[in-house]
Amino acid sequence: MTDAIHPPTVPSEADRERWVAHAEQHSTPEPNTGCWLWTLCMGEYAQVFVKRKTKSLTRLMLGLRVGDGLCACHRCDNQACVNPAHLFVGTLADNNRDMMRKGRHVPPNRLKTCCVRGHELSGDNLIVTKSGRRCRACRRASKLKYAAKPEAREKKMQWQREKRRAERR
Ligand SMILES: [Zn+2]
Ligand SMILES: [Zn+2]
Repeated sequence: MTDAIHPPTVPSEADRERWVAHAEQHSTPEPNTGCWLWTLCMGEYAQVFVKRKTKSLTRLMLGLRVGDGLCACHRCDNQACVNPAHLFVGTLADNNRDMMRKGRHVPPNRLKTCCVRGHELSGDNLIVTKSGRRCRACRRASKLKYAAKPEAREKKMQWQREKRRAERR
């Protein structure tokens, strides 16, 4: 019976192995420490995108779930490291204490350094609008996609014509 209630929330061993393989593929080994240094999107932690949401790769590798009060801690104390052998599960309280002790406390809204597709949100690629931070690369891509669809363009022009007509009245 318990199986029937909980199965979707428990990550399978296969899932965890998949994330470990992903970590190995996108990291560079550090010869002295044995750390795997994450080479893709890095905020305060190694980020991956699952269904357009930002997730912590180290949490996924450890099979942690949202709201479980646990966190992925580093034995090597290197936040950029994604070597599963350097990770262990700690409580949120442990981690907070640890972060305070090391003076590594960052406000949460600074964590988002990449867009959902993994482009870096900084420099020329960052557009700041009233509604938030936008990615220039994604905006360009969506414009191109739009331009490639003549029927969508025609629809928009039609809409603009009707709007102008309505304004003239
Ligand atoms: Zn490490
Ligand atoms: Zn983007």
